[in-house]
Amino acid sequence: MTSHAGELPRLDMYIGGEWVKPASGEYFETVDPFTARPWAMVARGGAADADRAIQAAHKAFKEGPWGKMHPSERGKLIYRLGQLIEEHADALAEIEVRDNGRLLAEMQHQIRYIPKWFYYYAGLADKIEGVVHPCDKPALSFSRPEPLGVCVGIVPWNAPLLLLSLKAAPALAAGNTIVMKPAEYTSATALKLMELVEAAGFPPGVINVVTGFGKEAGEPLVTHPLTRHLGFTGSTATGAYLYSLAAKDVKRASLELGGKSPNIVFSDADIDNAVRGVVGGIFGAVGQTCIAGSRLLVQRGIHDQFVEKLAAFSKSARIGNPRDITTQIGPIANRMQYDKVLGYIDIARQEGAELVLGGKRPDIAECAEGFFIEPTIFTGVNNEMRIAREEVFGPVLSTIIFDEMEEAVEIANDSEFGLAAGVWTANMRQALRMSEMLEAGSVWVNTYRDISYTTPFGGYKKSGIGRENGVEGIREYLQTKAVWLSTA
Ligand code: ADP
Repeated sequence: MTSHAGELPRLDMYIGGEWVKPASGEYFETVDPFTARPWAMVARGGAADADRAIQAAHKAFKEGPWGKMHPSERGKLIYRLGQLIEEHADALAEIEVRDNGRLLAEMQHQIRYIPKWFYYYAGLADKIEGVVHPCDKPALSFSRPEPLGVCVGIVPWNAPLLLLSLKAAPALAAGNTIVMKPAEYTSATALKLMELVEAAGFPPGVINVVTGFGKEAGEPLVTHPLTRHLGFTGSTATGAYLYSLAAKDVKRASLELGGKSPNIVFSDADIDNAVRGVVGGIFGAVGQTCIAGSRLLVQRGIHDQFVEKLAAFSKSARIGNPRDITTQIGPIANRMQYDKVLGYIDIARQEGAELVLGGKRPDIAECAEGFFIEPTIFTGVNNEMRIAREEVFGPVLSTIIFDEMEEAVEIANDSEFGLAAGVWTANMRQALRMSEMLEAGSVWVNTYRDISYTTPFGGYKKSGIGRENGVEGIREYLQTKAVWLSTA
């Protein structure tokens, strides 16, 4: 996988069971967000590499042993891959931290959980059953689910390995082959995963990785005539654009896109619990998650007390080296995102929001080099402000006051997004009513940011199409064939 040229290691792509140099011959730097220095060179893939990968995946699907393998045998390979990820979790976590600056403790936790997706879908591989239909014609009619063919998985930089696994595990369990493109800033764990794919014994071409930039390496994967499905996680703008490209060829697409998720705190809530949940919801992963609870809706009676507690709790968070196990807030993943978040903080100020915490780089020696921003809280926000409508993808919380439940619902739903929502209340009737009225793919009550391989995850409105995880997750990667046997 790795060769050394000069100082920095070079990371090649994995196509058709081989480590492949880019057709362009070019490599680009990948940067450690803590030191702001490059640590490796990544292959700059392009259309020729994308074509090679899709052809390899197509060949593996059509001619290779994968298509003829009994689903339980495919399941065994998928299970084996999960075991190898478990064995190498710490090494994978360290690479992830190097690439995207997430906390080591958090990444260890996340990567130790990833094998569950492989175990779950490995188990489902031989349980995909067809249906015999009660037919009104002189025929036996039945239908069976079949794989789609070559699937493409494109993911962002915030949780590269997790988001690739959410796509690869069900796609493979359904009998497809896959080409994955990680984000340009965070390619290293996907490539490390390919070493494990090799070790697990997958036939060549079943799983491939092309690295590079979106337009150059990603787009030709989506538009390739042999591609049958796009599984995308990323921004709504890019997702909508790729959806339009997929639509031209009537390709299937599952999209998991942006959010501006509300965390709604009622005055009867357990305040300390809600403070912890709201802090984890927006400052966990430095706000760089699609499900970040970036709008805080607080009932008027507890507003001042709640904000005070929230600010005190957030102020005590330890900012610093993501590899230090005591650190609670690490750097932003890359310079572009860092500039974007600071830009939004300026916009919020100009819009008249009141800054009660943060809003700048921390004044800490350890944070001098990296892309750090303090946990930032604005109050006095109204839902018309850009800071309440647009996805910041950073540690910036916008606080809005509400009086009645109906008003909270109206504000929460007044968004083009609908990914998730949190409700904090001791009143279960109120919680259930809220879960009915909120336009969101996930509603958490007295908890936030819970995700499981068993439970469907996806967005309402511009937050996406399709669902990942659970049984619904594998249906995205299957199509139904109806068969008629005449009995006339
Ligand atoms: P971000 O999540 O950083 O806001 P994007 O949603 O644009 O950014 O990126 C998510 C993923 O989509 C990345 O892997 C990126 O390289 C890829 N991507 C961006 N633009 C395109 C494109 N035109 N075609 C294919 N992939 C793209």
